Amino acid sequence: MPFFSQAKTFEYLWPEIRSRVSDVIDDGKYSHGRQVALFETALARWTGARYAVGVNSGTDALVLLLRACGLKPGDEVVVPAFTFVASASAVVLAGGRPVFADIDPVGYGLDPWSAAHAVTPRTRMLMPVHLFHQMADMSGLLDVARRHGLTVVEDSAEAIGMRWGGVHAGLLGAGGVLSFFPTKTLGAIGDAGAVLTDDPELTERIAALRHHGRYGRTLAHFPGISNRTVDNGVNSKMDDIQAAVLLAKLTRLDQDIARRAELAAAYTQRLAGVPGVLRLPTVVRRDTATNPVFYVYLIEVEHRDELAGYLAEHGVGTETYYPVPLHLQTCFAGLGYRRGDFPHAEAACERTLALPFHPDLSTDDIDSVGGRIRRFFTGRPE
Ligand SMILES: *Cc1c(COP(=O)(O)O)cnc(C)c1O
Repeated sequence: MPFFSQAKTFEYLWPEIRSRVSDVIDDGKYSHGRQVALFETALARWTGARYAVGVNSGTDALVLLLRACGLKPGDEVVVPAFTFVASASAVVLAGGRPVFADIDPVGYGLDPWSAAHAVTPRTRMLMPVHLFHQMADMSGLLDVARRHGLTVVEDSAEAIGMRWGGVHAGLLGAGGVLSFFPTKTLGAIGDAGAVLTDDPELTERIAALRHHGRYGRTLAHFPGISNRTVDNGVNSKMDDIQAAVLLAKLTRLDQDIARRAELAAAYTQRLAGVPGVLRLPTVVRRDTATNPVFYVYLIEVEHRDELAGYLAEHGVGTETYYPVPLHLQTCFAGLGYRRGDFPHAEAACERTLALPFHPDLSTDDIDSVGGRIRRFFTGRPE
């Protein structure tokens, strides 16, 4: 059983995708054409964002958002030590300096207390990251940001559908990002990403930065966006073929999210009480206003690497999100952190394992993975 597949999803969606892709070819505009404009509008409506700006990847979305928010060389951004490497490398690519903080060991989000301790006079921004199935503690983090005068930029790459007090992830601070990497909850068939924001000035700047700094070239479908050229931008266009796929998948997103919740519940039921399983995904109701959306089903186990090897031998694909905490990654060695600095992040890297998880799975598949895990720890099936 592969860790990820969307073959079945594409079977039902194929007629709609084929007709949209054929429109792309007929239109003769392959990036920032009609499908991208339709997708940006549909995504803004689905998330409740005033603006959704399509770019080439979630990583580009983060870099451009940080730049558009005015990050200057030497400015510090507080980033959790347990996240995808792009959260912090985007800060470096935007000219800033990541400063790490520890996570909440149950929910895996940036811990407000640890984040507050990482703030220095050079800190300008705070980057909450929402991982796996729930948002970081936004009440606590917004409070830290207010007390220290920091701009909040959310790495909500994994968080489509997650809301805090009814507000979609990415819209609690200055802005946030989405990734449409194929494995994500809303996945394309290649790379794509977007920035979500309610701020028209940020929107204008990002729309310019993604297209060589040319203002007004690629956002004509949003009202009130003018036409001028200011910044040195990059080429981070969104492909219309990706937008065509994403538009088709967006019509099923609520259904896919509901299916993901059923599959997660099936795993939790199957794995409850299995010895060697240290933690199942926990929904931390920090206040009652947050809803889980299962992007990844992540458990903590004893003997993680041996279990992953055993499952692989039996044809079950797993992933390790994330094997090395960022403060110990080679690319950030120059920042001077040491093992032991962020114990919760380090423990999460050693114990967590992501199980096969996507809407194509059946509850029988979940049952068989659960049975394999039980057999690994107890020597018995059932
Ligand atoms: C996927 C992801 C990204 C990067 O998105 P890409 O589209 O792959 O560039 C950034 N941060 C987090 C937390 C992610 O999960």
